[in-house]
Amino acid sequence: MEASLRHPLIEPGVRALVVGLGRSGQAAARLLARSGARVVAVDRGRPEGCGALADLGVEVRLGEDSPAVLRGIDVLVVSPGVPLDTPIVAAARRRSLPVVGELGLALGFVDLPVVAVTGTNGKSTVTSLIAAMLAAAGRRVFAGGNLGTPLAEFLLTGTGPVAERCDILVLEVSSFQLDTVGRIAPRVGVLLNVSPDHLDRYESYDAYVASKKRLFADQGEEEVAVLNADDPVCAQIPGRARRLYFSGHGDRRAAAWTEKGRVFLDGAGEILLPPLLALGPNPANVAAAALAAGALGAGLQAIQKAVDRFQPLDHRLAVVTERNGVTWVDDSKATNTGAVAAALAAIDRPVVLIVGGRDKGGDYRMLAPWIKRRVKAMVCIGEAAERIIASLGDLTAARRAATLNDAVAQAAALASPGDVVLLSPACASFDMFSGYAERGRAFRTAVAALMDGEREAAAADLVGEGC
Ligand code: ADP
Repeated sequence: MEASLRHPLIEPGVRALVVGLGRSGQAAARLLARSGARVVAVDRGRPEGCGALADLGVEVRLGEDSPAVLRGIDVLVVSPGVPLDTPIVAAARRRSLPVVGELGLALGFVDLPVVAVTGTNGKSTVTSLIAAMLAAAGRRVFAGGNLGTPLAEFLLTGTGPVAERCDILVLEVSSFQLDTVGRIAPRVGVLLNVSPDHLDRYESYDAYVASKKRLFADQGEEEVAVLNADDPVCAQIPGRARRLYFSGHGDRRAAAWTEKGRVFLDGAGEILLPPLLALGPNPANVAAAALAAGALGAGLQAIQKAVDRFQPLDHRLAVVTERNGVTWVDDSKATNTGAVAAALAAIDRPVVLIVGGRDKGGDYRMLAPWIKRRVKAMVCIGEAAERIIASLGDLTAARRAATLNDAVAQAAALASPGDVVLLSPACASFDMFSGYAERGRAFRTAVAALMDGEREAAAADLVGEGC
């Protein structure tokens, strides 16, 4: 890491407290220790990997996060998973201690152009697309943040100045990260869409929207805001940045719009979409990414090359298999109603929907038009099952399943040739799984087991007939 770059808050000897020791909290603690801070790190649980922190001189206290730990502390570094009304964070704020997140901390150590991508849905896909486009244009890119590697972790890897191994940071930024980022003025800020999410943590939808708006508040005239022309929240975005709008609904007044498997860039040509990117929300995602990468100098050829090579990410509208005329689709990353609506809009066949998990306080009724139009039956899982059935059970056949395996078996019985079975949960996964990826893998395993079972049964029938 660059020795010469100093963070305005982190003087050698400053006493820093890290709250929450997941991957980004651990990286923050290491970054602080490397910068000469005296670091205390707490977590109410006992996450793995903390032993290495003690070796760096970090005082690790597990199973503890009471405000008493704040004694003698100058700055608090809080992980995105820790709500800001947690007693220790609330007490720090009352005492006017600086409170910053891992991303805000790490950004204070670098002086590189930043592309920051936020929105309720599509962040990971668009962050990856922008990074691929800039890389195809010959730029050395770090892509991460809320996706993959936290920025603090990237700063700690490798030797020498960061600027010698990287020209540009492409960061996925969640609303929780924006709440504690401090000042951020990305060269290019991208807001993809805003729909209700995380209402278990924000006091209102307006508070969630305000968090997204923060990305643009400190931008100047030389910076760029890439905004969704089809999303009403984007019209309220504050700031002085140059605005570039994209439209997934073919609005030709936008700087980029989508039409029939192509993205048109106003005055600059068009991008032909390969089949996997021509589906669902992806054309709009490519349009947003092309504007962001284009604003940083990527040409049409590089953008097309990146699009041609791009592999859509796992667990986002991914076809698992097709059997007996039924297509099975894993959209486990759809953890809110906006993503489920996008999935149902993308599928023009009858759908058996597997939905549910840990409730996030949203209103499932907003899915009503899509349930009426597309969903022939719904199989509900997890803690939210009863709420979902109460909200939508009058619109389609609704059943409860005890496990994901059970849901897959019930869905198989409900589906006919020509249907799609879609896992698109509208909920977090933590009631039954360690995360959306584990939930998606469990779905694939259950589907594979079901197919194997069918094949074995068919083989046994044949043997039986032979006898
Ligand atoms: P995020 O990082 O914001 O969660 P992802 O790219 O991981 O976004 O996609 C999450 C979910 O949202 C998936 O179900 C995906 O199909 C859906 N999705 C992707 N892009 C969009 C979009 N522009 N609008 C609505 N839903 C989207």
